[in-house]
Amino acid sequence: MTKYIYEFGPRRTEGDATRNDLLGGKGANLAEMARLGLPVPAGFTISTECCNHYFELGGRFPDTLEDGILKALANVENEMNMKFGDRENPLLVSCRSGARSSMPGMMETVLNVGLCSKTIPGLIQRTGNEWFVYDAYRRLIMMYSDVVMEKADQVISEDGMGIRLNLEMMMNNLKNDRGYENDTDISVDDLKGLCDRFKKKIKEYLKTDFPDDPYDQLMGAVGAVFKSWYGKRAVSYRRIEHIPDSWGTAVNVQSMVFGNMGNTSATGVAFSRDPATGEDKFYGEWLVNAQGEDVVAGTRTPNPLNNDTKNRQNKHLPSLEEAMPDLYAQLFEIRNRLESHYKDMQDIEFTIQEGRLYMLQCRNGKRTATAALNMAMDMFDQGMIDEKTMVCRLDPRVLDDMLHPIVDPAEEQKAAKVAEGLPAGPGGAWGEIVFTAEDAVQWAKTGKNVILIREETNPEDIEGMRAASAILTARGGMTSHAALVARGWGKCCIVGAGALKINMETRQVRAGTRVFNEGDVFTLNGTKGMVYEGRLKMKDATENSRFKQFMTAADKYRTMQVRTNADTPEDARTALEFGAQGIGLFRTEHMFYGADSDRALFLLRKMILSQSRDERQQALDELFPHVKKEIYETLKVMDNLPVTLRLLDPPLHEFVPQSEKNQEEIARALGIDPEEVVRRSVLLKESNPMIGHRGVRLGITFPEITRMQVMAVFEASAQLIQEGGSPLPEIMVPVTCNEKELEFTRKIVEDCHGQTLETYGLKTLPYLFGTMIEIPRAALIADKMAETAEFFSFGTNDLTQMCFGFSRDDIGSFMNDYIDNAILASDPFETLDQEAVGSLIEISVERGKKTRPDIKLGICGEHGGDSASVEFCHRAGLTYVSCSPYRVPIARLAAAQAAIKNGA
Ligand code: PEP
Ligand code: MG
Repeated sequence: MTKYIYEFGPRRTEGDATRNDLLGGKGANLAEMARLGLPVPAGFTISTECCNHYFELGGRFPDTLEDGILKALANVENEMNMKFGDRENPLLVSCRSGARSSMPGMMETVLNVGLCSKTIPGLIQRTGNEWFVYDAYRRLIMMYSDVVMEKADQVISEDGMGIRLNLEMMMNNLKNDRGYENDTDISVDDLKGLCDRFKKKIKEYLKTDFPDDPYDQLMGAVGAVFKSWYGKRAVSYRRIEHIPDSWGTAVNVQSMVFGNMGNTSATGVAFSRDPATGEDKFYGEWLVNAQGEDVVAGTRTPNPLNNDTKNRQNKHLPSLEEAMPDLYAQLFEIRNRLESHYKDMQDIEFTIQEGRLYMLQCRNGKRTATAALNMAMDMFDQGMIDEKTMVCRLDPRVLDDMLHPIVDPAEEQKAAKVAEGLPAGPGGAWGEIVFTAEDAVQWAKTGKNVILIREETNPEDIEGMRAASAILTARGGMTSHAALVARGWGKCCIVGAGALKINMETRQVRAGTRVFNEGDVFTLNGTKGMVYEGRLKMKDATENSRFKQFMTAADKYRTMQVRTNADTPEDARTALEFGAQGIGLFRTEHMFYGADSDRALFLLRKMILSQSRDERQQALDELFPHVKKEIYETLKVMDNLPVTLRLLDPPLHEFVPQSEKNQEEIARALGIDPEEVVRRSVLLKESNPMIGHRGVRLGITFPEITRMQVMAVFEASAQLIQEGGSPLPEIMVPVTCNEKELEFTRKIVEDCHGQTLETYGLKTLPYLFGTMIEIPRAALIADKMAETAEFFSFGTNDLTQMCFGFSRDDIGSFMNDYIDNAILASDPFETLDQEAVGSLIEISVERGKKTRPDIKLGICGEHGGDSASVEFCHRAGLTYVSCSPYRVPIARLAAAQAAIKNGA
């Protein structure tokens, strides 16, 4: 019989932090905290395995589950000295979701389960607080009708509003009618009346009665939490974060403790260190007389936890440290214990019920990139973690944020400020303002930069948040949903900009006397929490001395080299600053796209449209000095470092002149009619240019094109040697599928090499000759390819294209459907498909090494900058990865972590 239920509490705890997969993060950590002897209200976790079985059974509980729940509930009753559904001394429970990795706000929670006509009088009697009981009841009704009765059963409402909004409107109307400012001002009689009217509305709206049996409520809530695993928000979040559907969610059923029992009760969220900066300061927010959802939902602006948490916006509000010093001291002590136990920054939720502190959650907290770096280095300095752990603490992807632009401080000084809020997500961003998530998605699709403005944070907005360049909210705190999600993504985000008054009807936002319309441009400084009018310049934020120090530590463990894909001396210089150890791919054709390349492009076109050998040779002779100069300059920047220069690999049609003016110019140069140019262009048209006359095939048809480029490489190198340099060129042949293509090209290369030695009077001119492996056939005959090739570089863009048969230029039209339907976990052009494309790489490595044991092996497809793919490259035994300059630090860190994880 499968064990589905794991208990936790002061006297008996079955799970612990290592059982994350089975119990979900929340369940595993509740168990761990209980084991540490911290004040955790008793409860039990229903496993993720049970969730999976529930779906396998078509949305039915496994047979043994209900009995198991009753037994576990009896133990909780014993621990708490209360009884679920009891008339006199009723126990209430919460049902919360909890997946393996945290998905903030993406799944459902139901609180106060067990409150019904039978238990209400008893609870009033015991607490002596009628207001509290009816407030708890109205919350149960609102949550339960929404989560269990509507969403879980996928009821589509006729008015399109849903039950929750209807009930919220009823409550707001009541507050307006009676002049109540806050929820806490509502009188008991009004609350009672409201609960009755809520239940009538539910019956009328959802055509079912609100359940009045505590066990029905409990089982309904458990099922609804399971079902929320396949809720729209959760599914979108998983697709974005590449979390597999097969993980499932656990359900945590736990005795309720109440932060809303009056002024000696409170609730809060805290981080053991500052999640924005990483400073070693206890950081958090709290509310008196409230339930946890009030802090996270951002409906009330929370108070600062302590002095360290005070800022411009909240400094007038009372801190917990001031209001309840003893309880704060106890919480602070727990913070220290948790940090030294987990050896990482913890995100904790707590509740104070009538002067007693309870811990409701702890987990490794989300943080900004800068905070992650600072915390890891501080914890290493403080002796909490060793250096390898420090290196592994940073997800390589977050380095992106540190390398991302910030608002130029000089411009910022002069800028017109619109509002101030809390700095929830780092860096700077600008964009046109939109007011709904749908608009953010739509506008972004048309290539616009957008900033999503919302009143408060709402997990339903997830797709829009993703699409936007930045997120701005008028309400909410640093722990609100938008703040957590944005921080996790490293997205620029400001929350709680209270001066903004949003009007959803007119799609306008007012700040003081000024009014802004949809489409107006704002710039956000997410590091400071400042909102400005118009578009401000952005600036590079890479000058962080600690960043360099961290990367140096990481480099100690790395065994793979990291090179860059660069086609200009400028890119090469940038990459060197980021720590590149050479160029892994210099795409020769890119020298015809850049600035000041009009003349070169013209000559290239002339060459392409030549028909006789003489015509072509003349064009090549004219082109030669340009190609040589570009190569010379790049080799010079990369002196003493390897530079892989790839022979021309352009689909020819890309370079054919399109405009009449260009056609006439070429016609004049070739001494032919413009019509002839059009005719020759038509001849170059191919049905499948990606697998057409490109790469090595060009050089087979026109060996003189290869010769011109190779001469340019050798002459540029010879000149550098004469000037005292040490160039290390590597000549690479693209799009090969047959060893004879390599032999054919090698002959030309050797001939050019000999000729250059002679012309320049040199004894040696070192170089390597190698090939891209980007066609499956080449991968499979790697042993033969290695007879001629001294190195392989895996062109995983084309290798993916040809392995899947997916056109790399056309995946936009179907890739999302593959991801949405969970056919693929991620886009294989972004993250290497280890199963098949990876197999091709492994086969090539093995066969290539058989022929040439010291063969150099690299990757230069886009995957070279993707951390998961880098780890694969390490395991496959590659010599280096190569990626775009800005991704070099990511690749360096990913390679170091791969080495550590694989036992360096
Ligand atoms: C590749 O195919 O992976 C590659 C690096 O070459 P390109 O992207 O230029 O085709
Ligand atoms: Mg390619």
